[in-house]
Amino acid sequence: MENIASLQEFLASPKNIIITTHQKPDGDAMGSSLALYNYLQPLGHNVRVISPTEFPHYFGYLPNCDEVYNYIEKPVLSQIEIAEADLIFCLDFNDLSRIEPLNEFIQKNTNAKLVLVDHHLNPKIDAEWILHDIKACSTCELIYRFLEIFDKNYVPTKEVAECIYTGILTDTGSFSNGATNKKALEITAHLLDCGLNIINIQEQLNQSGREEKLRFLGNALFRNMIIREDIGVGIIVVPKQDAYRFNLQTGDTEGLVNYPLSIKDIKVAVLLKQEPKIIKLSFRSKGTISVEKICRENFEGGGHRNASGGKSFLTIDETIEKILSILEKENLHQQV
Ligand code: 5GP
Ligand code: MN
Repeated sequence: MENIASLQEFLASPKNIIITTHQKPDGDAMGSSLALYNYLQPLGHNVRVISPTEFPHYFGYLPNCDEVYNYIEKPVLSQIEIAEADLIFCLDFNDLSRIEPLNEFIQKNTNAKLVLVDHHLNPKIDAEWILHDIKACSTCELIYRFLEIFDKNYVPTKEVAECIYTGILTDTGSFSNGATNKKALEITAHLLDCGLNIINIQEQLNQSGREEKLRFLGNALFRNMIIREDIGVGIIVVPKQDAYRFNLQTGDTEGLVNYPLSIKDIKVAVLLKQEPKIIKLSFRSKGTISVEKICRENFEGGGHRNASGGKSFLTIDETIEKILSILEKENLHQQV
């Protein structure tokens, strides 16, 4: 962020601040939003985190998560707070369509200045202040780096540490995927000095689940996974009936897309989630194969090289056919 001095000056007096993040927020979206909230609120600003949609209940341990507005539940209050905002932080997304329907109200408030903090490819948001780095493992890494330059003597509190660590942990797939970098480990080491308890977070995220979610996982892998080793593709389908059958809750499909990649010759994995009007797609890939390009060119989406998303307006079968025909042409076995 080049012009940080002007942001420091702007925030020298109390402001109305909105922090927003992408639909169906993940650990990085929730972690970065609440890290910033837990930093700014005690400074005397009037801060509100607004999610465009519901968010997984298992992030309830993040400090002040119960202060977050879900726009679907609180549209009127959200609109009022957005209209009164002096400053709006856009975290962990690269395109205003990712926060529909909030984008409309943000664009209406022409007095508010925007700050973009993000690590996705191809950012399309025109903001006054921008901290964008596709090499960052997560937006939480960028929030940590933002605090380092914005407030040089600041030492993260335990609360801020828990939020930042959550985003780093989830976006790096527990320090295992291609997003994992040296800074992720350095920040984590420092956060341990700031009171972070890794075991507590592990208990909250991975040891507090429901039996139904585990049965859903078993069923999805046993009955709804298509493996095409010949072209290096694995596809998992989540039909809408599963939502009732397994009492699915927001976030229950998180991580499911990764399973086909555990098979040696599978290089691209896709999750198709049937939603009321569209099919939501999640893509993951190994090595240099860019699913970002595939999502951007074919499914109105994008993201990162190895982890991207998009949507389809076709039926489940037609969507599977479309994905297979795109990936057949990609010759994945020739790519590393
Ligand atoms: P996931 O598959 O976990 O939902 O998302 C993987 C990555 O792709 C995330 O970084 C997410 O922000 C991005 N992503 C997911 N869906 C979309 C989409 O519809 N459009 C864009 N531009 N990015 C997406
Ligand atoms: Mn992220």
